[in-house]
Amino acid sequence: MPEPKIGANMTSLVRDLINTVRGVGDTSHSVDAHMQAVLEQLAELHGQAVENLTAAQARLQPSPADAVSALLRAQGRSASPEALLPGVKSEDRSIPAAGATLRARVYTPAGHGPFPLVVYFHGGGWVIADLDTYDAGARGLSEAAGAVVVSVDYRRAPEHAFPTAWNDAIAAYDWVAANAGALNGDAGRIALAGESAGGNLAVATAIAARNRGANKAVAVIAVYPIAQTGNMATQSYDDSASAKPLNRAMIGWFLDKLVTTPLDKADTRLDLINADLVGLPPVTIINAEIDPLRSDGEMLETALKEAGVAVTRKVYMGVTHEFFGMAAVVPKAQEAVRFAGEQLQRIFAGAVQRDAVQSGAQPRARLSPKDPAGAKLKVLGYAAKHSFSDLKPFEFERDAARADEIVIDVLFCGVCHSDIHQIKNEWGNTIYPCVPGHEVVGRVTDVGSAVTRHAPGDLVGVGCMIDSCRQCEPCLAGDENYCEGPNSWLATYNGPMIPAAKAPGGINMYDRDNSFGGYSSVLVVQEDFALKIPGNLRPELAAPILCAGVTTYSPLKHWGVKPGDHVGILGFGGLGDMAAKLALAMGAVVTLFTTSKEKIADAARLGANAVLETDREALQALRGKFDFMLSTVPQKHDINPFIPLLKRDKTICIVGALEPMVGVNNQAVAFHRKNVAGSLIGSLQETQEVLDFCAQHDIGPDIELIDIEQINEAVKRAIDAEVRFRSVINMASIKPNDPAATVEDAAIFVTE
Ligand SMILES: [Zn+2]
Ligand SMILES: [Zn+2]
Repeated sequence: MPEPKIGANMTSLVRDLINTVRGVGDTSHSVDAHMQAVLEQLAELHGQAVENLTAAQARLQPSPADAVSALLRAQGRSASPEALLPGVKSEDRSIPAAGATLRARVYTPAGHGPFPLVVYFHGGGWVIADLDTYDAGARGLSEAAGAVVVSVDYRRAPEHAFPTAWNDAIAAYDWVAANAGALNGDAGRIALAGESAGGNLAVATAIAARNRGANKAVAVIAVYPIAQTGNMATQSYDDSASAKPLNRAMIGWFLDKLVTTPLDKADTRLDLINADLVGLPPVTIINAEIDPLRSDGEMLETALKEAGVAVTRKVYMGVTHEFFGMAAVVPKAQEAVRFAGEQLQRIFAGAVQRDAVQSGAQPRARLSPKDPAGAKLKVLGYAAKHSFSDLKPFEFERDAARADEIVIDVLFCGVCHSDIHQIKNEWGNTIYPCVPGHEVVGRVTDVGSAVTRHAPGDLVGVGCMIDSCRQCEPCLAGDENYCEGPNSWLATYNGPMIPAAKAPGGINMYDRDNSFGGYSSVLVVQEDFALKIPGNLRPELAAPILCAGVTTYSPLKHWGVKPGDHVGILGFGGLGDMAAKLALAMGAVVTLFTTSKEKIADAARLGANAVLETDREALQALRGKFDFMLSTVPQKHDINPFIPLLKRDKTICIVGALEPMVGVNNQAVAFHRKNVAGSLIGSLQETQEVLDFCAQHDIGPDIELIDIEQINEAVKRAIDAEVRFRSVINMASIKPNDPAATVEDAAIFVTE
């Protein structure tokens, strides 16, 4: 561990601090030299320990901001906020709240508005501190984010106990939204920010705004937020128990003043880590290393991640609580303010982009109002709660159909290899609980008021997608499966293909982070994303066509397979089976390449040739023979032995493995101008085409029908062996009053 950088004039305060932080196990914190100078200055102001004072006395004690001012004067610099940040103008205003008028300070950056808006809440444990104490953090944020920042002086305890401050925060937020124009701000781009107790208020206000659905915040900056108060023995409470300028005793003292009953601490406005965080805008958490609240930030980060919220957290080393407002003298504070500003600028820019997407000319209606408003449907499903757990009964709610959506009673759902990858988080992107299933066939039971394509009683299918941006070039060209919108397409389960955390500006244009798929009794889907099941196609056979079928049909069609063409298919599992049947029905001469001798007879029964992949002589004899090859092998494999089998200019397309592959020998590719390609599922139109094509040619997958109780066995079988048949769940087997649905893993969960 590096030694702390200790100046010659080390005060007892700094020594205490260092002893404290070094005293616990191996967690030794090295204090930043600039930070140390502020702490020394603060010690010289001879404040008394707040926890021994009344609230009124405590408010008169020297603050870290006073120490910064003293330090600036000692350095011969101006301590005036305007002199330090000449680009930002400030003006005090009044905000009406229930039973009070709140003071507020409005910071406006240089330039022409309208600017994005930030509603900012200061720290001080809900008991001490005010607009002046926290002027520097709010002012700095205005410059760094290029935003109008409104710092709110909410009412403090003990005069105004919990939850007055939270109500004031919401009132202030609403006032800013209502007066955006007068503030030279843009009501469509409002973020929340705060430090310490104010960091808590920022997150709690974002939750309140989400709950109401109107004027939702686009981002939250939580600087060392208080995320919970039930556990004051976290790692950081322990290793920074006596740190300055904030310690465990002070926080205990704040809470004594704040809460009326111990039950208040369990209120999710205070206990953020147990609040419903789903659907919050991107949250940026900034922590200081030497701070009892550091672990609160970590817990909040975890809770947000588990709720599918885009969250970024940075811990600044060697600095303490309150450092964020010390940019004038602590370079790490400058860094942190700049970082917060960049986060906001990125998200504000994304909000502009999202508005453009949502207000642009739309070929098809989307996100139309719900009818009936707010109604929920109870749904039975099977979910994985973790990557290591089996699928278990799971009760949840779906929003009732919006105007352009339909309600489907699920009859059958295929078990796709993707479901297994996703359950086990093999692509590293699974959001739990995970209700898989994207080969869904069901009957329409209800339709929204604007639905034109479907009627109750219709048999419909839903594949991998339930929405797309509808604006990008691929979407407009009918290639929804290659949507280039900010979140790409919305998957039937697991949410957008590009989640908010990876989207430009952290946006989520679908307003939902997790979607629950077809291993469930009821699905609600936008009508354009439901396909017609032809009357002469058995519904249980139609299910796998919605993914396995279209995944193989789309490339066969795209590369123009026609009668008489020679088509080679690698892998003879579920995808290979469908590919062979479709290519044969298209009139092609089909050769299957398999690793299993037993499957040669199966191929012959289909009317296809079959070759063992290990049979070098047979491969040699097929050189230059194929017009198109399709690899359906579901994991990383070597296609090099097959490239020589293609004719000049022809293509081998990989659809099974969505992962890095064994390297390709480009000599074999280049010499005869061959192509190595990939393809992902298919468009809505292709999905309808393949359903119709299968009905017309009387083809379909080989399936085994299972009850939902057998799902975990079916998953194991699919992993253990390359099964050619597809398991299809007969969803009638999911029982409304299944006593298993009350096992500990079952829960009520709202999808949006
Ligand atoms: Zn699939
Ligand atoms: Zn798109």
